[in-house]
Amino acid sequence: AQASGGDEMASVKKYFNTEGFQRWNKIYGETDEVNKVQLDIRTGHAQTVGKVLNWLDEEGGVTGTTVCDAGCGTGSLAIPLALRGAAVSASDISEAMANEARRRYEATVAKGVQAPSTPPKFEALDLESVSGKYHTVTCLDVMIHYPQDKVNGMIEHLSSLAEERLIISFAPKTLAYSILKRVGELFPGPSKATRAYLHAEADVEAALNKAGWKVTKREMTATQFYFSRLLEATRA
Ligand code: SAM
Repeated sequence: AQASGGDEMASVKKYFNTEGFQRWNKIYGETDEVNKVQLDIRTGHAQTVGKVLNWLDEEGGVTGTTVCDAGCGTGSLAIPLALRGAAVSASDISEAMANEARRRYEATVAKGVQAPSTPPKFEALDLESVSGKYHTVTCLDVMIHYPQDKVNGMIEHLSSLAEERLIISFAPKTLAYSILKRVGELFPGPSKATRAYLHAEADVEAALNKAGWKVTKREMTATQFYFSRLLEATRA
């Protein structure tokens, strides 16, 4: 699993345990210590999570199903899924992230929210080391950190874990976003410690098809500084 993209993985892991953790924990939080760009990203990301939850609710809900959320971050998706009654296995390459997701879950339950009968599990694990079989596998806004060849391997591995449904999001490679990204690179901000990779939807879809999926739902979320293409795939 580490044959390609090993260097990316090591630097991404380090970033999300250190500065990246500080930055994204704020963005994925509720406090107002965020700047305008971070607030915009927070808003866009919340829309992506909302769209996933809507899809799952529309499709009959997740109560009693198993869900693997790979690259769970601070638990933005994993926690609401657990509270909806799914048995959630959430993992992240960053131990700081996995611990924060667990802390947030416990804080939510401590506030008096009804705890699910199966509490979620939070683990520090890179997604290609995740094992088991799950009804649904989700992986949101993780692939942006990896080049396409590595993403192909990730899709293949996530596919081997998913029985019914795979939901992934990525930054789409369109002409407009490629230009935006170039411009962003010319004016690097202080906390851009990792490279961002855009992915052509056709490449992502080809990897999904190869692994036996067909894309059944598509969504796009774009705010000023956040853009994410969301795909749901079911067994072809
Ligand atoms: N999925 C979460 C969400 O949407 O709220 C977090 C998205 S955040 C931009 C990217 C996350 O992916 C970080 O928490 C990072 O540590 C994690 N990550 C990066 N590479 C990973 C890998 N190879 N395996 C598992 N997690 C990874």
